[in-house]
Amino acid sequence: MKLKNNCNKDHTKKYILLTLVLSLFSIFVEAQTNGARPNIIVILADDLGYADVGFNRTAAFPEDLGIINTPNIDALAKGGIICKNAHVAHPFCGPSRAALLTGMYPHRIGAQYNLPNDINTPLGIPTTEIFFSNLLQDANYTTGAIGKWHLGFTEGSYQPLDRGFDFFFGFLGGGKNYFEYDYEDNFYKRLGGSNPVTNEYQDPLQRNRNYIDRTEFSNAVNDDYLTDVLTDEAIGFINNATTKSDPFFLYLAYNAPHTPLEAPEAEIAKFKLDNPNFENLVRNSAYITQSTQVTKITNAAARAAKIEEFVQDRITYATMVTNMDTNIGRIVAELKKNPSLYNNTLIVFLSDNGGYTYSKGAVNYPLDGLKGSVQEGGHRVPMFVHWPSKIAANGTFEHQISSLDLYPTLVNVAGATMAVNKTIDGKDFMDKMISGEDVRPENPLYIMRPPNGFHNGAIILDKWKITKTGGNGSWRLYDIINDPGETTDLRKTEPNAETIIAQMLAKAVAWVKDFQNVKPAWFDNDDGGEGHPHDALWADGTLPAYDKLFESSELSLGIDDLLKADFSVYPNPSSDYFYLNFNQAINRFEIEIVTTTGSVIKKEKGTNENKPRINVSQIPAGTYILRIMADDKIAVEKIIKI
Ligand code: CA
Repeated sequence: MKLKNNCNKDHTKKYILLTLVLSLFSIFVEAQTNGARPNIIVILADDLGYADVGFNRTAAFPEDLGIINTPNIDALAKGGIICKNAHVAHPFCGPSRAALLTGMYPHRIGAQYNLPNDINTPLGIPTTEIFFSNLLQDANYTTGAIGKWHLGFTEGSYQPLDRGFDFFFGFLGGGKNYFEYDYEDNFYKRLGGSNPVTNEYQDPLQRNRNYIDRTEFSNAVNDDYLTDVLTDEAIGFINNATTKSDPFFLYLAYNAPHTPLEAPEAEIAKFKLDNPNFENLVRNSAYITQSTQVTKITNAAARAAKIEEFVQDRITYATMVTNMDTNIGRIVAELKKNPSLYNNTLIVFLSDNGGYTYSKGAVNYPLDGLKGSVQEGGHRVPMFVHWPSKIAANGTFEHQISSLDLYPTLVNVAGATMAVNKTIDGKDFMDKMISGEDVRPENPLYIMRPPNGFHNGAIILDKWKITKTGGNGSWRLYDIINDPGETTDLRKTEPNAETIIAQMLAKAVAWVKDFQNVKPAWFDNDDGGEGHPHDALWADGTLPAYDKLFESSELSLGIDDLLKADFSVYPNPSSDYFYLNFNQAINRFEIEIVTTTGSVIKKEKGTNENKPRINVSQIPAGTYILRIMADDKIAVEKIIKI
């Protein structure tokens, strides 16, 4: 009896153990299949035109703009919810990506320009900002970033492995040539010499923190195409990550179809074969023949050459999109090998900004504007959300949605914990998108970009959008649901126009107050602070001009008064030198003399002085901006050299 009892106990133990194992297994299976903690893939295209994917094309799309078939992307889109009214936070690459990963408008942290395109730039998104990848990593997600980064180069601070990613493959800059042989010989030839290659498009691809072996993708046998390579790495990452019990997050940032417009010759030829009418239709389209870039050319031969250039650009671009579609199909096929994996993988597809038209190949029909614009063509992007375990197929979502919304949405679906005191401009969209409700009633989307001494701006709230462009512009009002092409300004005809505009501006004033003193932390292509024309415009107070944009004196900064009461410049105009007269000795000062086009031509610093003498004998006669920083106070002054 005793023995039997023991046996029974043993059986009981085994049974309990088996039950435990089975229930753990079923929890594991449930986690893999039931919508809790899904795998997450964000696929970010680069400069993709609004209707250059099939799922955004309506019957009204004019065939002579050039139809690009995207069957794989379309199948995914139709298997989920197509977001017809999706926006990014900024119409340019770097700031848009900063917004996506931080969940904040880039202006809040001075990230509203692309980073300088030099691989040695010490700049990047401040490490105090927590990316949502950090939070997913903390929640035990296996995290990978593949493709374009564009958020900083410095190892230990700004690289993907420093920002919540376990794995990285790609390039840290804002773009890359699509064939490695185009640049790697030159890179390695000059490496270690006095004139090394520093352009971000021309350093080798990187895996985790190191450049890849130069024979890996470009050798006597292979001239591998970048979009294919990135996809190979994505599939490898997925296969590796799915051996683990916790889910994965993949940020797959293709640089396609961003310039340089490059595609394998065989694929261009195949595209032409598969789309026999494409070339002639595009060549004869009024879209191209009547474009201002063409009609402004008076010489007939030069005009024909420009048309041909645009036609070939469109064909190469279309091939790049076709290739990306094929590659997305490869990823889907890989996921589908395990149906439960496929069903519980949340895929979000979007572009980082609108298409760049004509010379860069994209079409944004029916939207107006292009990459960089505050018109819809700049910031309204193709987007869908696919998650079979949670989201029914064939959905469309007509309300506004923003790339800013990904941060809180993905943190919540991952069961991750939001960072303490985190500023978030986005909203969790998942449940409301599924039920068709407005995600952000009363929460406008803002677009701001300073093209030349003035912020172009747009505010979108429900069906209304207001836009203002140019230094002397006034706000225009559009019904963006019924008129997405922004063809008809309703300011004069809509009875409530002034009230609508005033209410939107009031919201904008409240919004921008939070960061109106934050200046850009960098300027793109500015060669270390010297050269970008906007640099001087921010330094002398011409920008941000938020008061002018939003028509509110509440936003006047008066920045040049911070120090003005404490010093004077004498003589001004000056000949060979001038003095800075401080009312009292200051511990530390720095000055920069900047040309009106933004080049810094003289820097000087000193300590414990109240009347520093600045030698300007070597500077040509002309008007300059003098920037002064004295004990952390800042002022600018116009100076004239005679
Ligand atoms: Ca872009």
